[in-house]
Amino acid sequence: MTTPPPASAAASPPGATDPTLPGQSPATTIRRHVTDDQICVLTFDRADSTANVFDRAALMDLNEQIDFVQCHPELRGLVLVSAKKSIFIAGADLTQLARAKSPEELREMIELGQVVFSRIAALNIPTVAAIHGACVGGGYEVCLACDYRLASPEKATKIGLPETQLGILPAWGGCTRLPRLIGFPKALDIILGGKTLAAKPALKAGLIDEIVPREYLTDRACRVILERGLNLRRRPHQLLKSLLNWTPVVRLIAGKVAGPLNAKTRGHYPAIPKALEVISRGLGSSLEASLALEQDAILELGRTDVCRNLIRIFFLQERAKKLTGLPSSENVASLPRIEPVRRMAVIGAGVMGAGIAQWTSSRDISVILRDINDEAIAKGMAGIARLYEQGVKRHALTKLEARAGLDRISPSALEVPLGHTELVIEAAVEKMDLKQQLFARLDRLIGPETILASNTSALSISELAASTRHPERVVGIHFFNPVHRMQLVEVVVGRQTHPGVVRRAVKFVQQIGKLPVVVKDSPGFLVNRILMPYLVEAGYLFEQGARVEDIDESMLEFGMPMGPLRLIDEVGLDVANHVAADLADKFRERMQSPQVLSAMLKEGLLGRKSGKGFYVHGGKGDYAPVNPEIDRYHDGTRLAKLVREDLRNRMVLLMINESARCLEEGLVAEPADVDFGMIMGTGFAPFRGGPLRFADQLGIGHVVDEMMRLAGEGELRYTACNLLQTMAAAGTKFYQS
Ligand code: NAD
Repeated sequence: MTTPPPASAAASPPGATDPTLPGQSPATTIRRHVTDDQICVLTFDRADSTANVFDRAALMDLNEQIDFVQCHPELRGLVLVSAKKSIFIAGADLTQLARAKSPEELREMIELGQVVFSRIAALNIPTVAAIHGACVGGGYEVCLACDYRLASPEKATKIGLPETQLGILPAWGGCTRLPRLIGFPKALDIILGGKTLAAKPALKAGLIDEIVPREYLTDRACRVILERGLNLRRRPHQLLKSLLNWTPVVRLIAGKVAGPLNAKTRGHYPAIPKALEVISRGLGSSLEASLALEQDAILELGRTDVCRNLIRIFFLQERAKKLTGLPSSENVASLPRIEPVRRMAVIGAGVMGAGIAQWTSSRDISVILRDINDEAIAKGMAGIARLYEQGVKRHALTKLEARAGLDRISPSALEVPLGHTELVIEAAVEKMDLKQQLFARLDRLIGPETILASNTSALSISELAASTRHPERVVGIHFFNPVHRMQLVEVVVGRQTHPGVVRRAVKFVQQIGKLPVVVKDSPGFLVNRILMPYLVEAGYLFEQGARVEDIDESMLEFGMPMGPLRLIDEVGLDVANHVAADLADKFRERMQSPQVLSAMLKEGLLGRKSGKGFYVHGGKGDYAPVNPEIDRYHDGTRLAKLVREDLRNRMVLLMINESARCLEEGLVAEPADVDFGMIMGTGFAPFRGGPLRFADQLGIGHVVDEMMRLAGEGELRYTACNLLQTMAAAGTKFYQS
């Protein structure tokens, strides 16, 4: 364990003398200005980028600015601000962290950040961070090194330490300084939860000291420096905080938290217990020793597959934000600019239509919401109003923004002209003939440029398009339920969908802050297609004697957010049965719905919507006990003896197989699309990196051997697909690294 050099001795941080390191040109990330009052204002403004991040160059640049401050004793204070529209500093440059070739390189980067921030904390003038925009991870850790923090109240401002969500922990002083600032329990809440907060809750939690309108941030920062000087550092003594940070109390709290935390994370997220250990041990140590604990911990965590997989998901999300929906050979720069959608229509005000209308109207789009009668419209609008209210409660938007959003929706129970809309999304009931009639009708109402999209979960986009005069303008834009929580949207390309329409659909998904994955039209598209054999298998295992608890628990242990039978209950046995039947038309026994679902349906056991399914619903919170009536639906005992590991293997192998088939059939362009879709669309154990990444970890040969063994027992649905068999024979993997 190494201790970083004391802050005062750290004018030359690690790596400072190596001229060969990339991106070290000074003054490319920070502008300096000294006011008439002798306050040094450092403006973070990375050239050629909309974001500020801390990479080596930015840290070195900041280090040089501190040299300047130290060399100018006439300076009365230091202010940190950002020139970017919606980002203060978005944390450490993960690309640099992920590409570190050796533990030493990573250690050097961590040490550099710690040293530079500690130099700020050790300055003998008052320091203030004036935050507007995303201020997360390392971006907030530099603010923690300041004496005082102001933040704008705007929506773009988000403050916090999300590192544990990436399988690491705040190691540039976050685990050390935050508990000292706000107290142990509140710091645990932020760090272990990987939370980021809007300005108002951040103020309440003590993460910032004042909320100031964006345009006055710098002025106010200078004023507090002039008015309060080094007194800014003096915080009123808080007895409760001192008590909560007292070592015996810290130990007591840490002991109490550890058990439930392990139960909740099932040991899958090592960064969380590690952060708990670092924060609690760090509080009883000196600042330097605590920083050393952070450093050792992040190096340990950085080596794990969990961390690698979680960081990969972050990169996949970033990739989705930049996706164009075009083959990689196309030069996007040479294509005409796509204007954002401003006016659209949503057809159907049910669960999905209402969700889509709420989300898009909150993103500045005027929405016509159409349904067949006043009752359906009223129900939809009531749901939308509720979603807006919840958004205000979560501080995702202000009351005014919610009001404006609601006002952007024009509900209509009558057919209205749609010629002025740029996009129409159909979200009516899942019936091909009804949707085709609807599409034929909509085709006559829309303008020459309007894109016609369907939110169908599984019906063919090409067949829907066939009912219109312009099939090239028809595309699938498939949201997941609930719309306001699920980030993934499948953009489904029909046989005749024009590439320009795909590009516009992708751009629209990005415009509204969702993450697109482009999928070829095929039953179930990507996510439902892979999910279905898994759900069907769970039903089949139950039918053949396995217990509900064992089936669901085995997958919870694997890391799924919910067991498959519980998921069937949530979706509705009727819906699950219907989708399985649709998919079985094409994929036969692989998707054949087990008898048990039809038998339960006949008895009115629909899951949550009828109060009973595999579980009994309606109790307090999320708790639902297993339905004691369902034992009679076992149709055999053949698989009753399988242990949880066997049950899990069967379900996971089928997901891997279907994922490989999707790739084999060219539904998506690459393995990362499958993994991204499954993680974002179903919550597939993120720390495992997705079904194909997990297959690589298991070994493709092993996957195929296991599948063929089960197929050999007469269960043909386990037959490994051609792609897996070819890969096993060739000894290849889905990913090179
Ligand atoms: P829903 O039953 O809640 O809502 C359907 C709405 O469409 C109803 O309000 C109905 O009155 C209306 N409608 C029926 N015919 C219409 C017509 N001719 N014109 C206008 N409105 C009409 O259904 P939902 O769950 O919102 O699903 C809608 C679509 O979204 C379906 O295609 C479904 O497969 C898909 N989808 C559903 C989910 C989900 O989890 N519910 C998820 C993704 C996609």
